[in-house]
Amino acid sequence: MDHDPKETVLVVEDEPTLLETLEYNLTRQGYRVVTATDGVMAVEQARRERPDVIILDIMLPKMDGFEVCRTLRKEMNVPILMLTARDEEIDKVVGLEVGADDYMTKPFSMRELMARVKALLRRVRLIREDMAAATAPEPERLVFGDLTLDLSRGEVRLGERPVPLKPKEYDLLVFLARNRGMVLSRDLILERVWGWDFAGGTRTVDVHVRWLRKKIEADPANPTRIVTVRGMGYRFEG
Ligand code: CA
Repeated sequence: MDHDPKETVLVVEDEPTLLETLEYNLTRQGYRVVTATDGVMAVEQARRERPDVIILDIMLPKMDGFEVCRTLRKEMNVPILMLTARDEEIDKVVGLEVGADDYMTKPFSMRELMARVKALLRRVRLIREDMAAATAPEPERLVFGDLTLDLSRGEVRLGERPVPLKPKEYDLLVFLARNRGMVLSRDLILERVWGWDFAGGTRTVDVHVRWLRKKIEADPANPTRIVTVRGMGYRFEG
C-alpha cells in the first residue's frame, strides 16, 4: 500500500453486483469505502463522510449522476470519477461540464479504474501538500552538519562557536541556505538580498561570498559549502 489508509472513497452505484465488486476491490487496495445506491443518498453520504474521491454512476434512481455532481461541486472540492453504461460522447461532454474530473465507460477494467482513482487522489494530495507548505511556519533553525543558522535569534554557529556575521553576510547566507542545492545567479542574489534599489554591481555578491567563506568554510580556498558554478553563480551545498 502506497497511500494513506485513511483515504475514503464514496462509491455511488445502483447495480448491486458492480457496487459489491467496486467495494471489494477498493477495500482490498486499502481504502475506506462508503456507498450509496441512489442520487439523494449520494449527496447525503458525501456531506456526512467528506470522501477523498467519489466514483459516481450517471444512471441512478431519484437523482442522476449529473445532478449529484452539480450539487456537490457547489459544496466541496472532491474529485469525481463518473461512470456510465452509455458510450455516448454527449455524456462525456455533459459530465465534464457539470464538473467531473474523470470519466469511464462501462464495462471498464477494475485495474484501470484503480489506476484512475489513485491518480485523482495523488492530485488531491499534491494540492494539499502545496497548501500545507505555503502555510507551514518557517523553521526556527537550519542545520547543515556543524553549521547552524538560528533564524529566530539571527545567529550562526559552527559547532558551539558563534560566527560573527555582518547583517548582509547573514542575509546572504540565509538566502543561500533556504535555496540549498539550487544554482543562484549573482543578479538574483543581488535582487533578493540587496534589493532592486541597490546601486552596486554583482561584484558585491562575490565580495560577500568571499567574506562568508572565510567565516564558515574549513578551507576558504576550496569551498565545499558555497560553491561557484562557473558562468552561472553560486550554489549552497550545506
Ligand atoms: Ca446505474
